[in-house]
Amino acid sequence: MSSRPQSVQIVEVGPRDGFQSIGPLIPTDRKIAIIEVLHAAGVTRVEATSFVSPKALPQLADAAEIVAAVEMLPGLDAQVLVPTVRHAERALAAGSRHLSAVLSVSERHNMGNVRRTPMESAADYAQMVALMPQDCKMRLNLATAFDCPHEGRVESKNTLALLEILVGATTEVEIALCDTTGRADPVQVGNLFSTAMDRFPGVSGWAFHGHDTYGLGAANALAAWNAGVRVFDAAVAGLGGCPFAPGATGNVASEDLVWMFENMGVGTGIDLDALVKVACDVCDLPGAQIGGRVRDAIGSRACLTKVV
Ligand code: ZN
Repeated sequence: MSSRPQSVQIVEVGPRDGFQSIGPLIPTDRKIAIIEVLHAAGVTRVEATSFVSPKALPQLADAAEIVAAVEMLPGLDAQVLVPTVRHAERALAAGSRHLSAVLSVSERHNMGNVRRTPMESAADYAQMVALMPQDCKMRLNLATAFDCPHEGRVESKNTLALLEILVGATTEVEIALCDTTGRADPVQVGNLFSTAMDRFPGVSGWAFHGHDTYGLGAANALAAWNAGVRVFDAAVAGLGGCPFAPGATGNVASEDLVWMFENMGVGTGIDLDALVKVACDVCDLPGAQIGGRVRDAIGSRACLTKVV
C-alpha cells in the first residue's frame, strides 16, 4: 500500500462538541480566542459552533457571533452543525459556508435530539441539500452509526440502509460516521468504513468522529485510517460528552491523534507543542470535562506559559 497519502486532516470539534457539554457559559470572546490559537497552531478546519435552539443549548446561543469571527480567519475552513433545515437557514444567513447536517441511525437518539424519526430527518436533510448555495460545502454527521446510548450496538445493516437513502439525496458530501458513545471497537469501525466506502464509491469523502469513553478513540481512528479514511474529528484536551448520550465522555483528544499520526509519519499540519499549550489552557475552563493522554505526557513543560 505504498500509494497511501501521508497526511490526514484533523477537524477540531472542541468548540462545538466540547463547549456544548460545558454548563457554565463561556464568554464569546474566550471561545473566539481559543479558536484563534488553535488556528495559529496549524488547525485548518474546525467545527466552530452549532445553530440549535438557544433554549435547548444556551452555551451555543452566540453561534452567529462565532461565525462572524471565524470567517475572518485566513485559510480556516469553519463548519457549523445544523440539525434541521430551519437552523441551516439561520447558519447560511449568518455567513456560514460549510454546514454539518446531523441525524442519528438510532430512532430513540434522533427523537431525543430533534423529536423526529431518522426517516423524517432524512427528508429534512434532502431539503437542506436542495437549498445549499453553489459555493457552500456540506458535511453529514451520522450519529450513533456504531452504538446508541439507549439501544446498545447498532447493526451495520441499519446504518447502511440509512446511508443508502441519504446518499440518494446527494453524493456531493463528506460523510462522518460517528461513534457517539465511544463504545465502538476497531474491528467494527474498520469493517463499517470498508463496507460503506465500497458500496457508495461516489461519495465525495468520509470522516470518522470518535469519542474516547473506553480509551479506544485513537485505536478506532487508526482502524478508520487503515480502511482509507483521511479526515478525523477530535477535540482539544478531549473535551466533550454529549448532552443526549448519558455517560459518554469526550471526543478523542486532538493532541492524541496528532501525536499518533505524526509518529507514524502521517502529517497533520499541526504544531503539537502549540496544540498542547491550548489544551492546557482549555482545561481551566470552568465546568470542562477533559480527557486524553498526550497533554499530561508532554504537557508539564509546555503549560508553563499561557496562550489564552
Ligand atoms: Zn460527538
